[in-house]
Amino acid sequence: MTKNITRRDWLVGTGAVAGGMMLGSTASAQTINDFTAFGDAVTPDNPIRMTNNENPYGINPKAMKVIIEAYKRAHTYNFTTSRELIKIIAKMENLPEDHITVGAGSGEFLMATGALCGMSGGDLVAPFPTYGGIFRTVSNFGTNVIRVPVADDMTIDMDAMRKAVTDKTTCIYLCNPNNPIPSIIEKKALEEFCLEFSKKAMIVIDEAYYEYVRDDSFSTMAHLVKDNPNIVILRTASKIHAFANVRIGFAFAHPDTLKEIRKFRSGTVAYPSLMGAIESYQDPAYSKFVVDKNYESLNILYKMFDELEMPYVNAHANFVYANAGRDADEVRDKLRQSGVLIGRKYEPFPNWIRISTAKPEEMDYMVKIYKREFG
Ligand code: PLP
Repeated sequence: MTKNITRRDWLVGTGAVAGGMMLGSTASAQTINDFTAFGDAVTPDNPIRMTNNENPYGINPKAMKVIIEAYKRAHTYNFTTSRELIKIIAKMENLPEDHITVGAGSGEFLMATGALCGMSGGDLVAPFPTYGGIFRTVSNFGTNVIRVPVADDMTIDMDAMRKAVTDKTTCIYLCNPNNPIPSIIEKKALEEFCLEFSKKAMIVIDEAYYEYVRDDSFSTMAHLVKDNPNIVILRTASKIHAFANVRIGFAFAHPDTLKEIRKFRSGTVAYPSLMGAIESYQDPAYSKFVVDKNYESLNILYKMFDELEMPYVNAHANFVYANAGRDADEVRDKLRQSGVLIGRKYEPFPNWIRISTAKPEEMDYMVKIYKREFG
């Protein structure tokens, strides 16, 4: 944490302090604990969110200020500010500006690449389980999806991925770190895979959780897009920058590929979102704070898993995946009654639960009720 930015600043910025103070005087009989969610008392209907891999600290207060100010101009169309943001990202990623496009979240680019994939008429190869965004689009084209089960250690099975690629494959989706299993793909193996298979198929690498990784065996594949028009990298501001409902995402690809992707863009990106992102991406201290807190929260969960002898996957993102030894829906329902909402059940592992990290003090509370219910 830097000298001029304290945790109290984040709290003030997100309204949590004000909400917490209010709680003391207005807490009703329904109040479950001392926490607030959206500034209100925690209840089963207003739970602490550990469900959608969101940033529990919210938008950087400096970016929030800029966003609010920018709404004064939100009645006008804006076609130029995206270039400023692209300039900043290009510098950060060491990419030419014409290799980057910005959209309303990475979901927009999962849709665009899914459409390109669907229109190609070939098969899509992807790990199982993984994030579902691209599947929603290809399903509209009747695309045949080859789902490659993860390995026994729950990492993406790159050997099996290789074997699954056939002459019919025109698209390969990889989520790195993966979701709902927060594993990573070893960088050399991934680079070799990309260089070999991008000769025959478009490879979409979804790096939504890129900023959370602290493992030397991981690397972005952004450097490959310059020389390989069949590789597309997706990033989002929804996670580390807490822009889930502000909507900023990026595609990195060769200019020829971006031209095709842009055919499926919905239009301009909201000016307040662009201005907020320009501020947020230039404040690494906030991102570091969020990542530090994330690992604090992960450690609280690991301790509980070890104590309860629950198998889990080492997390390289802001969520964990653990074997609860009972139906994930049952666990979800029980925790919700105590004001904690965890992720939904994911096939093919009905007994595994995905828990997004909240603030460490909220994780402590979660551990307390988990042990009470299932310990
Ligand atoms: N990709 C992955 C792997 C995700 O987990 C998510 C959201 O949870 C997204 C993409 C969607 O992100 P965005 O909000 O940028 O559309």
